[in-house]
Amino acid sequence: MSATIGMRPEPIRRVTKIYAAFLLAAFALSPAAMIGYLYFFQDPALKFDNHLFHEIAIAAATLEGLFVTYVSWRCYRSSGEPMLRWLTLGFLGFTLIYALHGAFTGMAHHNIWLFLLYGPASRLAMAILLLIGLLSFNLEADTPEQRVNPRSWLIWVAVFLLIDIAVAILAYSPIAGNPAVRLTMEGGALFFSAVNITIMLAGRIRSPLMTIFGISIALFGLSSLAFILGRPWNHMWWLAHAIFAGGFFFLSYGIIQAFHTTRSFSNIYNQEEMVNRLAMSMVRTENALQELKHSNQMLEHLASTDPLTGASNRRHFIECVDAEIARAKRDNLSFSLLALDLDNFKAINDHYGHQVGDEVLQGFVQKCLEEIRPYDGVARMGGEEFMILLPQATLEVAMAIGERIRSATENTAFTSVAVPKVILTVSIGVSQFGHDGNTIDTIFRAADERLYRAKDHGRNCVVTT
Ligand code: GH3
Ligand code: MG
Ligand code: MG
Repeated sequence: MSATIGMRPEPIRRVTKIYAAFLLAAFALSPAAMIGYLYFFQDPALKFDNHLFHEIAIAAATLEGLFVTYVSWRCYRSSGEPMLRWLTLGFLGFTLIYALHGAFTGMAHHNIWLFLLYGPASRLAMAILLLIGLLSFNLEADTPEQRVNPRSWLIWVAVFLLIDIAVAILAYSPIAGNPAVRLTMEGGALFFSAVNITIMLAGRIRSPLMTIFGISIALFGLSSLAFILGRPWNHMWWLAHAIFAGGFFFLSYGIIQAFHTTRSFSNIYNQEEMVNRLAMSMVRTENALQELKHSNQMLEHLASTDPLTGASNRRHFIECVDAEIARAKRDNLSFSLLALDLDNFKAINDHYGHQVGDEVLQGFVQKCLEEIRPYDGVARMGGEEFMILLPQATLEVAMAIGERIRSATENTAFTSVAVPKVILTVSIGVSQFGHDGNTIDTIFRAADERLYRAKDHGRNCVVTT
């Protein structure tokens, strides 16, 4: 997959990137076309003076605002990102101020300013808070204690309620009717949105959620422009509401995306990045699996072998014999066992030392491996006692192999670093599955008894009866 990405020709890649950027810009600016259309082709005097519709719309916006505030606050509590704190405050401030714009709809014909000014005031407050939010993008996360501290939240609620009171006082003051008042607030909202987008573009901030953030800010700014061009109840004024709602919907979509993924704005990657990260982690997983497989094999080997000689240990040998018994019964076959014990080994230890004894044990296992067939198995059952499993070997064949080992041992000068030549002999007892019993106990016992007999017969011999 990553290979095909790597092979994609460079020019088309660049063109598609430019096209994607163009699409985003076109999408963000598309309300400008509607504003222009209304501005140039509609009668500005046409009005839709419907209080109930306005009240319902603002009530819905208030409920939605509270919901989005809550979801952003939950995201902030999880990730502690300062940006999410400011977004939460932006939504909360907007909701607490804008709700009065709806509540005072009925005042439109008594004190138009009490009705109107909450709109630009809420947009100005939100534009400022969202700009602070952008400036805190990627700042270090707040501590868990800071996140749940109710004090700063209460202070902000108080600030928003004070703004509500201040707007009411302004609405009843003589300057309320001055167009500069509304223009300053709406123009301020437009200005801060423009600053916000400029900073985003200049800083090349373009993670997927920040793209949504930027487009929403563009819509907020354009809605302020439409509000400036509109008059209460005319179609430009309604269009302004719709553009603002579009921005709010889109930004809350981003918040929901954050909530359902990392609950943060900075740790969300675009699809290309995610595909690359996925490919990388798949490689890492594959490597880890290989390592695990390797260490499992090592563990298995360690658990089944004798560390000194490398022969199988007793536990593993018994497993092999059990498996061989099952196979012999199923396929009606036979197999044989050799029980081996080194002769007078104590004397070798006493004479040359334990270290030399160890090396002789290793050499003996090597000798056995040279004399047996590839599918036969040697095990160290303890001390200087060994057993060999000979699949499909009759007693005669086993005897021949035993004899080979015995004679090879006798004729080998076992060497060690300290002693150039150690003479060693081995006694061997042989038993055959079927001939000497059908259980592991009976065939082990038969081989052991014959081994003792070999010792009794003067050692260095192979006994089959
Ligand atoms: P026999 O011919 O009767 O078997 O005489 P033996 O001396 O071989 O028998 P015995 O059982 O008396 O002694 C076995 C010796 O094997 C005793 C012990 O010191 C030695 N031995 C057991 N395990 C090891 C080991 O891991 N390394 C060394 N160097 N010697 C060992
Ligand atoms: Mg012994
Ligand atoms: Mg011995």
